[in-house]
Amino acid sequence: MFDRIVLASGNAGKLREFVEMFDPLGYEILPQSQFSIPECPEPYGTFVENALAKARHAAKNSGLPALADDSGICVPALGGAPGVLSARYAGGNPKSDTANNAKLSADLADCSDKSCYYVCVLVLLRHENDPQPVIAEGFWHGQWRNQAEGTNGFGYDPHFYLPKYGLTVAQLSEKMKNAESHRAQALCELLRKIEMSH
Ligand code: IMP
Repeated sequence: MFDRIVLASGNAGKLREFVEMFDPLGYEILPQSQFSIPECPEPYGTFVENALAKARHAAKNSGLPALADDSGICVPALGGAPGVLSARYAGGNPKSDTANNAKLSADLADCSDKSCYYVCVLVLLRHENDPQPVIAEGFWHGQWRNQAEGTNGFGYDPHFYLPKYGLTVAQLSEKMKNAESHRAQALCELLRKIEMSH
């Protein structure tokens, strides 16, 4: 269908993961920074609305198919927060992973239920006015750990503990994360849907 896709994100961690996951599939992932595309506002209350807005913005400004990822961490004990505000949970400019992690640790300090999950919604638009976006979703469940461990990954990974491995996501290799993560699961579904639409 196409071989070059613009990634509608300025997040270096996401870009690294997508480049690695798409590489064996023969797609070239281009960062939107290559087209000097300014950051897109994300004013909506749902992941899917924000992902659609980002994909449309990147397709419009690049003239290429665009893939957007809107993702975040949700904590049931906090009513789903940080949710769509994950990147800027602690406020402040520039956004800070360290500040976000400190705020979430503080918010969960008195909660006995530390369960949390990552969500990833992917939207692929073949062009700016594509009436039929390809949409896929992935989830990854874990437990919040106040103590940070590990240096791989990005964002909330040092605190996102996987009981199955006895490790945080930041302690997994990039290869392991990219085989299981919310992003990997959403990508798998996205590719299946693209194939089905041929
Ligand atoms: P977005 O760029 O608006 O989609 O915000 C995504 C935010 O969610 C990131 O800045 C991280 O804070 C968090 N996030 C999403 N995916 C991951 C992940 O794989 N690991 C850690 N944090 C993530």
